[in-house]
Amino acid sequence: MELQVTRIHNETPLIKAFELAAPDGSDLPPFTAGAHIDIDVELPDGSRGKRSYSLASDPADRTRYEIAVLHLPEGKGGSSYMHSQVTEGRVLSCSPPGNEFAISESADEHILIAGGVGITPILAMTHALQARGANFQLHYAARTEDHMAYRELCRQLADDGFHDYFTRSPDPNPIDLKSLLGEPRTGRHAYVCGPASLMQAVIDTARQLGWSDDQVHRESFGARSGVSDRAIEVELSLSGMVIAVEPGTTILDALIDAGAFVAYECKRGECGTCQSRVLEGEPIHRDVSLSDRQRNEEKLMCTCVSWARTGRLVLEA
Ligand SMILES: Cc1cc2nc3c(=O)[nH]c(=O)nc-3n(C[C@H](O)[C@H](O)[C@H](O)COP(=O)(O)OP(=O)(O)OC[C@H]3O[C@@H](n4cnc5c(N)ncnc54)[C@H](O)[C@@H]3O)c2cc1C
Repeated sequence: MELQVTRIHNETPLIKAFELAAPDGSDLPPFTAGAHIDIDVELPDGSRGKRSYSLASDPADRTRYEIAVLHLPEGKGGSSYMHSQVTEGRVLSCSPPGNEFAISESADEHILIAGGVGITPILAMTHALQARGANFQLHYAARTEDHMAYRELCRQLADDGFHDYFTRSPDPNPIDLKSLLGEPRTGRHAYVCGPASLMQAVIDTARQLGWSDDQVHRESFGARSGVSDRAIEVELSLSGMVIAVEPGTTILDALIDAGAFVAYECKRGECGTCQSRVLEGEPIHRDVSLSDRQRNEEKLMCTCVSWARTGRLVLEA
């Protein structure tokens, strides 16, 4: 599907918002809150790739989609392309909206938690829940006020249910996850999107409070690789294969490229399908799926996003 960029504005010093519409002005395909589109981007080496961007606009508005893109200078160039090459009037090639982070239809209370650019799908949820007159709260954390995108809109839509938190202001006010999540109850659902540390904290706190994992909905934009990641060697105990994994790729992709039989699904550290038992070596966990018990006692790791502190890992695979 082709979408024309009708307006670009800066939401924060690092986040640009793009309004997109059909080039002939017709209605856009409908989407549900939490959905994203994949945009065809040009990478610095001249190759093309796809990058996903959540739709932040009101799902009831069929005339436009709005996305907001954080500039990640250390990335492979997708966000740099969006920031430096895409101008108003440009036509982008995109997928239709898809949704893996939908609002639960069985919930009667919704606790929305966003960090940084993770506000994008949460903002669409805020529009949808406000329009339904649903019982919801919006908790939103950013470094400082200047780095909080869509703050006024969030306040207007969520009204008294809007709570903002600033982690690097002179007077930081951290989120008290324990009290905002509260006791688990059928019908109370939480939704989180943001940095891995925030997502992990929400998931861990909900588990400690006795919440069911089904009531904590999450969307990860990806796990940031570590600047100090170095090349590792992964041995698969069942097949005896030994595979070299270079920084910049993932263990899972290296196993797939080497022809190893591995199960996987999201490739974002969310679903846990690629988990593997570590028999030797020390992983650096970057997923938002495994519990402390799974990591520390069952010795599991998600190969799609995690790395290793030791130069060699032996996996039961
Ligand atoms: C379902 C989905 C929805 C997304 N929605 C948005 C959105 O609304 N706005 C947005 O700016 N990005 C969003 N992203 C991330 C986006 O697709 C790109 O990964 C991002 O723009 C960086 O692209 P890049 O080519 O510059 O770097 P890449 O090489 O793609 O990414 C570099 C590394 O950073 C990780 N990463 C990507 N985004 C983040 C982030 N915000 N914080 C920490 N690590 C990150 C990647 O997983 C990768 O390991 C979404 C991703 C997914 C999967």
